[in-house]
Amino acid sequence: MAELTAPPQALLLLANLGRRRRPAGAAAPYSEPILPGSTVAAAQLAGVVDQSVAAADLVDLRRLQRAAVHAAEAILAGGALDCAEINALAADSTARVELIVTNGLLRRQLVWTDTSLAAALARRLIEELNALEPDRLRRCARPECDLIFYDTTRSRTRRWHAEDPCGWRERQRVHRTRRSNSNGGRPGTGRVISGGSATLILHPDFVISPVRA
Ligand SMILES: [Zn+2]
Repeated sequence: MAELTAPPQALLLLANLGRRRRPAGAAAPYSEPILPGSTVAAAQLAGVVDQSVAAADLVDLRRLQRAAVHAAEAILAGGALDCAEINALAADSTARVELIVTNGLLRRQLVWTDTSLAAALARRLIEELNALEPDRLRRCARPECDLIFYDTTRSRTRRWHAEDPCGWRERQRVHRTRRSNSNGGRPGTGRVISGGSATLILHPDFVISPVRA
């Protein structure tokens, strides 16, 4: 059984910053500002950075964010990836080799020193891109959402960055379109379901949504 690769978390997080999205409850699609300041940047990077972000980190972090966007777009387009910027940012990460004993066996391990937050993240980005299966990287199929995701399903058939809300919304849209077409595109007067003393009138646009936790 083939082992599925883990999602490239740093690539996805960085490449999705500032991208158009429409989460549940949002009245319209919007884009968040990209690493606007230390506090917001720390919150935005919380998924891949477990330390505070200094103002001095922001310039290189923004460079890395743009490099991640270019990398993701190049992969999505099946084009060539320019590695120079990511490599330049990762250059401040260095490793030394150490000999260790594990379970009685001699092993060598690399001990990394990252001189900056951006360098540490650039190094992680290189590891993720090294392990990435390009055809699993996709753009969300919901028109109002531009987010990129990594399809880890065995069937490789995932279409939305998340079921909630994009999967639900797109299924509702398809359902409405089908009902509209089956109605000849005419505005319907509703279908009447009678049972006992209760009468339920279903409007053609009515869609039964699964209950969400
Ligand atoms: Zn989406």
